[in-house]
Amino acid sequence: MAKRDYYEVLGVSRSASKEEIKKTYRELALKYHPDRNKSTGAEEKFKEVSEAYAVLSNDEKREQYDQLGHAGFDQSFSREDIFRNADFSDFADLFRQFGFGFENSPFFSSGRRRGRAQYGEDLETEVEVTLEEAARGTRREIRLGRRALCPKCSGSGAEPGFGFRTCQKCNGRGQVVQTQRLGPMAFRSVSTCNACGGEGRIVEKQCRNCGGKGTVQKEEKLGVDIPPGIDDGMRVRLEGQGEQERGGSGDLYIHVHVLPHKIFERRGDDLYTEVPVSFAQAALGTRIDVPTIGGKGAKLDVPSGTASHTVFRMRGEGMPDVRSGRRGDELVRVVIQVPRKVSQKQKELLQQFDELGKKERGFFGI
Ligand SMILES: [Zn+2]
Ligand SMILES: [Zn+2]
Repeated sequence: MAKRDYYEVLGVSRSASKEEIKKTYRELALKYHPDRNKSTGAEEKFKEVSEAYAVLSNDEKREQYDQLGHAGFDQSFSREDIFRNADFSDFADLFRQFGFGFENSPFFSSGRRRGRAQYGEDLETEVEVTLEEAARGTRREIRLGRRALCPKCSGSGAEPGFGFRTCQKCNGRGQVVQTQRLGPMAFRSVSTCNACGGEGRIVEKQCRNCGGKGTVQKEEKLGVDIPPGIDDGMRVRLEGQGEQERGGSGDLYIHVHVLPHKIFERRGDDLYTEVPVSFAQAALGTRIDVPTIGGKGAKLDVPSGTASHTVFRMRGEGMPDVRSGRRGDELVRVVIQVPRKVSQKQKELLQQFDELGKKERGFFGI
């Protein structure tokens, strides 16, 4: 949220006197003090007016504020700078009346809270498979660089034979709470203890293999089973095969790309393909060989008088469903080929055929 102009926040003019500013702040502080005003936004309001007062009540800061403008001032001074030397002593009565109650409340607290031991991150990688591999399922060896528990200390970070002592800095809590007073407010922040990294304990002697971290970077080979029926864009999850940390391991996600196929196009679990037949075959009817993803091929009966682009369905010759294993169908589009070149003999026969067609009108539906 962009901060508002301090004069605006207090509702005073730019030429307001110190007394006027003080009087206004008293009124606003009474109104918005979170001990008194429990409505949502009151805390924020109180913080806002207190900050405005901290600046406008200090001659030097007010002068800089007037010169730099709000944006410029905001960029040049941190929250700590703003409250440094700010004098709220005139309002001691006010805050005492309300119990001055910030220090023990979660009011204004910030910072990250973290559990004790770290949890390993998830990892992602990609593999490419052909459509044939996707149909029958396959196995891939992948190389993976990841953090793994140190084999020497089993992840404890301690040199074998040595133990741990409680971290002095955080008394074993793993977190450090800091309170910073700014004017009438106390900012509490909770952060991970930097002495023990949130563990609450420190090793007596660091493991020499991992330097006390408990993990080492490892290059590993991993066998991954790609299940039959996997489709492009799906991912395979290998539980616990991500980065290892003392708190647990993340998962490994393998994104699978199925390469485009020369003759098959996949739609759901069905496969589409085109097979050429000659004009004569289509006219007379024939039995043709059709490729299948299983590799054995199949026979398809094309009845006489089949029009070009007729689609035949071959049940169970498609892709298996990745969950149920049930196979889709193969849809074969028969496309009649018109010969580019014809021999003299073929030409004569075709001419004869055409003549006959004209006489026996409608025989081929022409
Ligand atoms: Zn180690
Ligand atoms: Zn600590």
